[in-house]
Amino acid sequence: MNNIVFLGLAGAGKGTQAKILSNVMNIPMVSSGDLFRFHLSNETALGIEANKYMSTGALVPDDITINMILQRIEEEDCNNGFILDGFPRTLEQAESLHKAVNGNINNVVYIEVAQNELVRRLSDRVICTIKSCNAILSKSDIMGMDSNCPVCNEQSLTQRKDDLPDVVENRLKTQIPLINQLLDYYKNQEILISVDGEQDVDIVESEIQIKLGINQ
Ligand code: AMP
Repeated sequence: MNNIVFLGLAGAGKGTQAKILSNVMNIPMVSSGDLFRFHLSNETALGIEANKYMSTGALVPDDITINMILQRIEEEDCNNGFILDGFPRTLEQAESLHKAVNGNINNVVYIEVAQNELVRRLSDRVICTIKSCNAILSKSDIMGMDSNCPVCNEQSLTQRKDDLPDVVENRLKTQIPLINQLLDYYKNQEILISVDGEQDVDIVESEIQIKLGINQ
């Protein structure tokens, strides 16, 4: 069983790298942000509740988030493991996860990127809203927000509302002290791997695989 957690501040490239590793290892990526956005686009009660927090850059309360993720990782496709992206984000979430999997987290991958680079990246980020695609793009990859997604060719591009400058600042301010607690928590368990996330995507990808001992 391979249970892997990705840690990093917003914009560090967790989602991109978690998706690559999920394909390489053939185990599902479970992203708390994607799950919340999926609920919101389907206007479920959970999505509408979560959006109250997401729209301001605040964290969704632990009880809601923990229930959603623990239920998801119980599903059959996670029997051989999962790659978590965006969860845990608080110590309480980390402890609930630890309990739910009997301490069975193999590795925690921390993608490290400086704050000024994160702000630059987030204001440049464009996403595809088609669930089977979920491409993460930069403004330079597209002809304009009205153009089709270059990956799935649907007219589905948008900028996340929480990537707008005021919200970004609030998200980072909330995330920094929390991520520091999580880094300490996983360092103590000796399962933390750190990677310099300011390098090219494919270099980050191969460094992660080398550090996880995956043959390329
Ligand atoms: P992300 O796509 O990971 O940046 O998440 C988008 C938003 O969803 C965050 O700004 C939070 O409002 C919410 N969210 C995602 N993951 C969590 C989590 N583990 N705990 C609380 N809120 C979360």
